[in-house]
Amino acid sequence: MFLFRIFIQFLRNALKDRVIITIDGPAGAGKTTIAKKVAGRLGFRYIDTGAMYRAATLKVLESKIPFNNTEEIAKAVNKSEISLDFSGDEMQVFLDGKDVSEKIRSEEVTENTSLIAAMGPIRGKLVAIQRSSAEKFKKAVFEGRDTGTIVFPDADLKIYLDAGILQRAQRRCREIESRGETVDLDKLQRQIKERDRKDSSRGIAPLRVPEDAVIIDSTSMTIEQVTDKIVELLDQ
Ligand code: C5P
Repeated sequence: MFLFRIFIQFLRNALKDRVIITIDGPAGAGKTTIAKKVAGRLGFRYIDTGAMYRAATLKVLESKIPFNNTEEIAKAVNKSEISLDFSGDEMQVFLDGKDVSEKIRSEEVTENTSLIAAMGPIRGKLVAIQRSSAEKFKKAVFEGRDTGTIVFPDADLKIYLDAGILQRAQRRCREIESRGETVDLDKLQRQIKERDRKDSSRGIAPLRVPEDAVIIDSTSMTIEQVTDKIVELLDQ
């Protein structure tokens, strides 16, 4: 029965010209992992919009522009080229032609991205790139903070993915340790809470549950269970 439903859904998606799934939620909720899995199952592309805000932040850090100089920041980011490509299933982010996919994961970039992401001109530029990626890839899973509220208000399926703070911090901790770095779990929890506070309280495109989203709390769910649920929801 399950396989039959998957098959019907595959047919339906194949016939549709454009299918957009959005996954929004707080830091460390597992959005990228789940977006990748869901996209893999459906033969879609996954787009990590946070990576673009991180690339813009890297540009500001490399240009050594003070964070209070919004005018210069907007100019520098507007002049820079931020683009996406795929190496197999992995999304890569390019800043002025250079692959910065690893560089954007540094603590310095992570710490400062919420500040840059709160600036209107930066969001304007990146939202336009995200929308044109949807035109290019047609069938995609977008994940971020405002993909269901602002970027694709007409998405076919909107998910708000959440998890308990401890669980989220532990997941980020494992991710950081897998890169050979060390991190303090309490410090990580504080940083995640602060990032969520900034992302939810900003004036432009704050992190919100989209009105018509399905909320999934993944605290005690496996990656496979969350993936199955989203694939089933698309079917419905
Ligand atoms: O998802 P990730 O943790 O990589 O996102 C980094 C930061 O980028 C977030 O904390 C948020 O400030 C910003 N962001 C955003 N809107 C998005 C995606 C990310 O403001 N759609």
